[in-house]
Amino acid sequence: MTVVGRARNSQGNGPASQQDMRRRNLSVVLGAVAAHNPLTRPLSRADVAVRVGLTRAAVSSLVDELIGRGALTEAETAPDGRVGRPGRALSVRDQGPAGLGLEIGVTHLAACVVDLRGEPRVWRRVERANAGRPAGEVLAATAELAAAAEAEARGLGLSVEGRVLAVPGVVPNEPAGRVERAPNLGWHTVGVADHWPDPDTAPEPENEANLGALAEYWNAEQAVETFVHVSADAGIGAALVIDGQVFRGARGFAGELGHIPVHPDGIRCACGARGCLEQYAGQAAVLREAGLTPPCPGPAGSVAAGDPAAGDPVALLAERAGAGHAPTLAALDRAGRALGLALASAVELIDPDGLVLGGTYAELAEWLLPSVRAELAERVTVRPWAPAALRPSALGRRGPVLGAAQTTIRRIMADPTLLPVG
Ligand SMILES: [Zn+2]
Repeated sequence: MTVVGRARNSQGNGPASQQDMRRRNLSVVLGAVAAHNPLTRPLSRADVAVRVGLTRAAVSSLVDELIGRGALTEAETAPDGRVGRPGRALSVRDQGPAGLGLEIGVTHLAACVVDLRGEPRVWRRVERANAGRPAGEVLAATAELAAAAEAEARGLGLSVEGRVLAVPGVVPNEPAGRVERAPNLGWHTVGVADHWPDPDTAPEPENEANLGALAEYWNAEQAVETFVHVSADAGIGAALVIDGQVFRGARGFAGELGHIPVHPDGIRCACGARGCLEQYAGQAAVLREAGLTPPCPGPAGSVAAGDPAAGDPVALLAERAGAGHAPTLAALDRAGRALGLALASAVELIDPDGLVLGGTYAELAEWLLPSVRAELAERVTVRPWAPAALRPSALGRRGPVLGAAQTTIRRIMADPTLLPVG
């Protein structure tokens, strides 16, 4: 049963403010322990009290509850030479509560389980052609992968408390649990739970670009608070992170960068308009411009990521570009120009601290960055703009599924009472 969901209702009998205060303090204490590096020195309850500015008695009660909910562990440490008696060291558990992330891509399925420290413990990826197949069939295959990942996690002592599914489509704010449209999969209005074998364990869908951006925000060494994350797989997705929060728009449609016009009278797009970015910087467009036919998929339409011989078009582009294939270099330069043009508008409009190229763009960054940067330098003129503010994501294609898994962990960190009392 999924315990950690998007919405939460206040429960219990006490005054709301008192419960909220306790919840907040549990979160602060859990966060203080998570922020401590256990390799430097042991962290005691007294240390935590000093760090969070609460009394030792209050912290002890909060720590007891966090241990009871399976979030913290407290181990005996070796006798302290100075005091001459053993201490107690707090740490976030690497067993127990975990989050499951799932991803449906056009040519793959992926799963990831992270523990409460946010560390990935299980990774699974299946190459599989999903475009044009019935949603029920794709979701049944995803459920199978989810079951296998959860079984592996159980073997590591982890228990999945929440499930989030990354999809390359629009997930409206309301109603929850529904994918409104995913053009590259051929989906229209798909309720995930309607097709999941056990509706109790059905994952909550979310747009993959949003999850990729959040993964970047949560895991980057030097994260900025306001940035645009552009990712590409079969289509182009973008997410706006503003003050550390994904901006979803009024209905959940924000970030459709792929359909921003870059040539007013340009190529007709599948969306019906002309000159959309996707027609110049999308994977199919770049392959076409490079004179490359999309590589032949393997049996059952499968491709192997990172292997041009096994049907991965991005690996093929990287291989050709690396070998100095002139048409591929020209196609990537043109894509970078178009991307830079679209991003210049985004920069002028929202004044971000940074731009991140994620998804498969991260693997092509070496060839895209110069032309994107050149375009930005030419067009972002009314505000200061440093070339280094545009950078590739370190997570690349793994971003969305990692973000999906970590979503549950972030919710638990913000409200540890979501965890059942053990
Ligand atoms: Zn379009």
